[in-house]
Amino acid sequence: MSAEKVLTIESLSKNYGKIHALDNLNLSISQGNVYGLLGPNGSGKTTTLSIVMGIVIASSGTYNWFSGENNNDAKKRIGALIETPLFYPYLSLEKNLEVSALIKNIEKSDISRVLKVVGLEKRKTSRFDTLSLGMKQRLALASVLLGDPDVLVLDEPTNGLDPEGIAEVRTIIRNEASKGKTIILASHILDEVEKVCSHVAVLKSGKLIANGKVNELLSSEETFIISTDRITEFHETLKSSGISKNESIKGFDIHFNLITGRNISEINQFAFSKGFVLNKIEKNKNTLEKQFWKLLNRKYMPQIYS
Ligand code: ATP
Repeated sequence: MSAEKVLTIESLSKNYGKIHALDNLNLSISQGNVYGLLGPNGSGKTTTLSIVMGIVIASSGTYNWFSGENNNDAKKRIGALIETPLFYPYLSLEKNLEVSALIKNIEKSDISRVLKVVGLEKRKTSRFDTLSLGMKQRLALASVLLGDPDVLVLDEPTNGLDPEGIAEVRTIIRNEASKGKTIILASHILDEVEKVCSHVAVLKSGKLIANGKVNELLSSEETFIISTDRITEFHETLKSSGISKNESIKGFDIHFNLITGRNISEINQFAFSKGFVLNKIEKNKNTLEKQFWKLLNRKYMPQIYS
């Protein structure tokens, strides 16, 4: 049985005057997906989330939640964190969540549950203005989780947090995902998408340039590294093996990709049959990060996201 469609986006565009913030976006998100919207600043992530949450009106195209009705029942199933929610600095966490619950028309009884989910139950009587930045963001997530929505829409939820805060927020997201929730998460951090998401849509200047399962995007360009004593000789031999492609010598190693359908143990057998002993076989996963930069036609710049 195929999973329920949670969000279908068809030919969605948004122009701000001459700026094409979103250009003919098509995307389909199914139940249980943790879908990362990945792109550099200004690529259209917030615009996309704002449109599907009804905050911004599209120039053209459509989006449909669940079975096709973008009505209040659908909205009740979605918890969104697009802009930082405003909390009262002098009120306690508990009181602030009471205000959120009131606005969302959700029973107060859910407050202790969400405080527990985000690990803030011990701080429930603290004033909001005494919280660290990471705690404030976790409170924002608690507010989103009120009413236990099926879908979470999160725009850059770890932005501005320190490593500890980032790890805490990611843990909460992963835990919610493990409960079967659908999560749509905008991020410019590749590492985040790799660590948290099952699927990814890469946006560049408002255009969708790639999408699919994170692990498929990752495995599509696996590079292997081997070394042997007579490297130049083996390089030539390997080129005629019919098992590998893109063979190149780098330092003391040979780098190559496998031809579709072949596996690395065949390389080992092949080498042995030709009288070569491999003293190293390694898999060099082409990370999503490299893929991403390649897609953006830019030079790989890992330091930006380290
Ligand atoms: P960031 O990570 O910086 O938030 P983003 O991927 O979320 O980037 P958007 O905020 O959706 O990108 O912006 C996409 C484009 O639309 C950008 O060029 C931005 O300057 C422009 N834009 C967004 N909102 C407006 C607005 N209200 N008026 C004019 N231009 C806008």
